[in-house]
Amino acid sequence: MKPSEFDYIRAADVEEAVTALANAGEDARVIAGGQSLGPMLNLRLARPEVLIDISKTPSLQQIKWDEHGLTLKCSATQAALLADAALLDRQPLLADAMPWIGHVQTRARGTVCGSLAHADPAAELPLLFSVMGGSVFARSARGDREIPSKDFYLGMFETALAPDELLLSVRFDLPKVGTGHAFKEVAERHGDFAIVAVAAMADAGGVTFGLGGVSDRPIIVRWEGLDLSGVRDAVEELALGIDPYDDQKADATYRRRLVRKLGTRVATEALERRHAL
Ligand SMILES: Cc1cc2nc3c(=O)[nH]c(=O)nc-3n(C[C@H](O)[C@H](O)[C@H](O)COP(=O)(O)OP(=O)(O)OC[C@H]3O[C@@H](n4cnc5c(N)ncnc54)[C@H](O)[C@@H]3O)c2cc1C
Repeated sequence: MKPSEFDYIRAADVEEAVTALANAGEDARVIAGGQSLGPMLNLRLARPEVLIDISKTPSLQQIKWDEHGLTLKCSATQAALLADAALLDRQPLLADAMPWIGHVQTRARGTVCGSLAHADPAAELPLLFSVMGGSVFARSARGDREIPSKDFYLGMFETALAPDELLLSVRFDLPKVGTGHAFKEVAERHGDFAIVAVAAMADAGGVTFGLGGVSDRPIIVRWEGLDLSGVRDAVEELALGIDPYDDQKADATYRRRLVRKLGTRVATEALERRHAL
């Protein structure tokens, strides 16, 4: 199938993108890497009247590190972030987990912000953003606003962004010195969306732990004071308290089993990697 007809605007800068969104309202869609929206257009699951292309907007491709964290503008690709020399040292959780997202080819076009905005419940970046903490910065003709990671996901493929808002940038908070991290997922094949993905960060106070591919949005818990002796019980209690979905890849029973298995390994690994506290 081919997409239904749409007007195409290649935004030269942020103002052009925001004005186009304000003018077209709910009939417009931003296209960044097109790795999710492209198939949706072809299948006519999305039928925007106006497509606003931000992929060729140089001012939106920036990746910046400062004392507040790692900030990416909305056209920065996943490949550009993976190639950043500081990533492994300063955001090792992202460095470990991002090679699991799709393939070299999809990461070359797919953007970090596009994945966050798309809000697929099985996608890795929404999970990582939720575990690491940070904020999304949105811009519309009505003004700018900051949305903390904990308030960004509202449901399956649903975020706090309004239809006229551009996700301008995202900031991932920097981990505290000595924080341990771990990530694991099970998928049908490497590069597929996760059946279950698990990420954790262990700092002096405890463990922040997240699950993807289980619910309509990432599930995040904070275990204050958790040490290695308490991991099995903490994960078991969480596994019993969640209500995983069934789909064609796996049923809820299998997902719960993966939560137990991966969750125990991930929380343990994150605690074992914690140091200099
Ligand atoms: C073969 C294949 C395998 C893949 N495997 C994985 C995988 O394992 N894990 C995974 O997480 N993803 C996977 N993906 C999806 C990929 O990561 C996409 O890059 C990502 O989901 C969307 O990023 P994008 O830049 O391509 O966004 P687009 O497809 O351009 O847009 C996606 C959605 O977000 C909106 N949007 C994008 N940018 C903005 C913005 N700045 N402001 C407001 N709205 C915006 C669009 O309007 C659209 O609704 C795969 C894709 C393919 C084709």
